[in-house]
Parts: sequence; structure tokens; C-alpha cells
Amino acid sequence: MNGFDLSPAEVEARDLARRLAEDVLRPVARAADEERRFPADAVRELARHGLLGMGLPTEHGGLGWDAMQTTLAFEELGRADQSVRGFLTVHCSLVSQCLAGAASGEQKREWLPRLASGEVFGAYALTEREAGSDAGAISTRAVREAGGWRIHGEKVWITNGLSAGLFLVMATVDPALRHKGVTAFLVRGDAPGLRRERIPHVELGHRASEHAVLTFDGVQVRESDVVGEVGKGFAVAMGGLDHGRLGVAAGAVGTLQACLDAVTSFARTRRQFGKRIADFQMVQERVADLSCDTDAARLLTWRAARMAVRGEPRTREVSQAKLFATEAACRWASESVLLLGSRGCSNETDVERHLRDAQALRVYEGTSLIQRIVIAREILGREEKHG
Ligand SMILES: Cc1cc2nc3c(=O)[nH]c(=O)nc-3n(C[C@H](O)[C@H](O)[C@H](O)COP(=O)(O)OP(=O)(O)OC[C@H]3O[C@@H](n4cnc5c(N)ncnc54)[C@H](O)[C@@H]3O)c2cc1C
Repeated sequence: MNGFDLSPAEVEARDLARRLAEDVLRPVARAADEERRFPADAVRELARHGLLGMGLPTEHGGLGWDAMQTTLAFEELGRADQSVRGFLTVHCSLVSQCLAGAASGEQKREWLPRLASGEVFGAYALTEREAGSDAGAISTRAVREAGGWRIHGEKVWITNGLSAGLFLVMATVDPALRHKGVTAFLVRGDAPGLRRERIPHVELGHRASEHAVLTFDGVQVRESDVVGEVGKGFAVAMGGLDHGRLGVAAGAVGTLQACLDAVTSFARTRRQFGKRIADFQMVQERVADLSCDTDAARLLTWRAARMAVRGEPRTREVSQAKLFATEAACRWASESVLLLGSRGCSNETDVERHLRDAQALRVYEGTSLIQRIVIAREILGREEKHG
């Protein structure tokens, strides 16, 4: 289709995700968004087919899918429902795959099978009111005590935060150390002193996801709940984002494909001035450009996924895919509203939801401005300091 041949295993993964997206997610996506309700039954159905463990090795109860297979799945899920795709990217990529790489053997045995089956949902808690893009500025404190640590502080905008059974929490052992003080901890959902509340504002998009404010009031964790080493949690957090950003890029490709599908089928059937609107050159120009951007976003995303499968360094390529795909999704969701006329301006069609959902894609897991910093740094390097 686009010069990247998919293997039978990749086609199988894509087709399973496509079938579940169409049969399970699409029928409930609009109502869940409008009611700001997490579609728990639909997610249970995804879990029944193994999708909550898609990126985990089979030895831990996962499907053993590689980065290309999970990328294909996130595209299909994003095409139908960005809220559930967001839930899954956090659960599978930011938490499960991050732990598969960074956790101890004991931590993996305790948590990965439960995450893979969907018995527990995972959440990733990094952002604070005063620390968003500047993650090294977090002030949630971890204070050492006999046998472990106590965590004090607050996190905001934590996806899956209301129902998660496991939190990967970034806290600092000393704020003055900035990045070098950040430490990653596993916190159980039922830990005494952990309070979760829905964020106080109504989200622009992703309204069927749960976004929570977490308060840690002296939450006790064991020494064995530290992920990796004390003071090395920034690398753990960024490792999670390496997986997650690819999933966000793939989700954005799903939005682009959904817009192309909606615009194409409408343009073929809508008649004005005695013609299909598909026969007007200005409409054709937009469809042609939308198809180019959809393929370009997909190719960038698949390239990064293939590099991930081969284990190659890919910081620049992942950021390029996320930047291009999410910006294109915002642009084209907006143009699709125009092309559908009044139908795009209400919930009569899904493009208004795509328009709202696309905005957050370019904010979370590093805004588009931050992706540009990452890309430019990879190309230009940093100035060497002398003396
Ligand atoms: C739907 C949604 C779900 C989320 N889920 C999670 C989650 O599960 N876990 C979690 O930890 N967080 C989550 N977040 C938070 C998200 O990761 C942050 O919103 C994001 O990192 C940006 O931080 P901020 O909102 O504080 O913006 P800020 O960092 O305050 O940025 C404001 C503006 O300044 C720009 N800016 C900042 N620094 C620079 C710079 N150096 N150069 C140029 N421009 C700069 C930014 O690009 C942005 O445009 C979620 C957010 C949303 C919207």
C-alpha cells in the first residue's frame, strides 16, 4: 500500500485491533465522550482479547507484540476513539513497557501479569501544577525512612488516575538536584494516604478518559518499590515516553485516516450546484493534501516503529513522527469540519470529536514545541563548554 510491506503477524495485529475498534469502541465512543464516562465494558472486552498486554512478552502474560504491531493497533484504536487509545497508550506503553524495561525481576513478576490481563490498570504520574514540560522541576518529595520511603505531594492531569491499581510515580529525593534527584516509585492504588479526584475542569477532548488530581499525603512505599535506582528516575520516565510518543503519533495517524474517510464519503455523495462536491477542484485539492499528510504521518510513524523493533536509537525519528502526525491531525480535523459544512459543526458526525481530541495529542507526552527542541538538539547537538 505504501511501500512498507506488513508481515502476516503485523496484518493479524492490525486486523484484530481494527475489528475491536469498529465492533466494540465505535458504537460507544460518542456517548462516552458526551457523558465524560470511561467505557469500562468496552475496555474489558479489549482486555479479553489480550490488548491490555499487547506490548508485553508472553512470559508475563502479554501478546508479545513488537513496536510495529502495537503501532498498527494504536492507529486503529485512535481512528475510532482517542480516549480509549489514550488509556491504552498510558497503560501499555508508559507503564507496562516502561516496567518491562526498567523494573526488577520481582517487580515484573508481581505486576506485569496483572497489567497484561487488565486486572489492574496502570497510570503514569509525572506532571505537577508547576512542573509540566520542565519535568526536572517536580516537587513531589520522597523522604527516606526505615525500610522505605514516604511520598508527599500532588500530581495533576493523570490519565487513568481514578481507576488505576498501579501508579508509576516520579518523585524527588532532593529538589535542588533537579533531574538527578528524580526517582521512580511503584505506588499501589489502595495505598493509605493516596487521594484521587477528577480534575476540576471539563476537558476539551479525551473526555471519556479519566484525568485525575492525585494527592500523596505521606504515602508509604517499600525500598523494593523503587524502579531502577534512586536518582535515576528521570531516565525511567523518559524511557516510558519513548514508547508512549510512538503510540500518540500512531493515534494521530488514526485521526487523519478517520478524517480522510469522513471527507471522502461525504464528498462523493453531497451534491451542490447540481454536482457532487467531490467534483469541485477546491475540494479535490484538500482531499489530495489530506491524503498526502496522512501517508506522510504514517510513514514517519512506521519508520520510527521499525527502528524500535530493530532496537536502534530513534529519539529524533519518534519526535518527528509525533510532531508531524499530531500537528497534521489538528490541521485536518479542522479542515474536515469545513468540508462537512454544518454536519461538521455538531455531533451529527465524529469530526467535531476528532477536532477536540486532536488538540491534546500535541500537548501531552511533550508538546509540539518540546518535540522541536528534541529534534533540533539531535541534529545540532549542544555547544561544547570549554574551561
Ligand atoms: C489529555 C491529557 C492527558 C494527560 N495525561 C498525563 C498523564 O497521564 N501523566 C502525566 O504525568 N501528565 C499527563 N498530562 C500532562 C501533560 O503531559 C502536560 O500537560 C504537558 O507535558 C505540558 O505541560 P504543561 O501543561 O504544564 O504546559 P507547560 O509546560 O506550562 O507549557 C506551556 C507552553 O509553554 C511551552 N514551553 C514550555 N517550555 C518551553 C521551552 N523550553 N521552549 C519553548 N516552549 C516551551 C509549551 O510548549 C507550551 O506551549 C496530560 C495532559 C493532557 C492534556
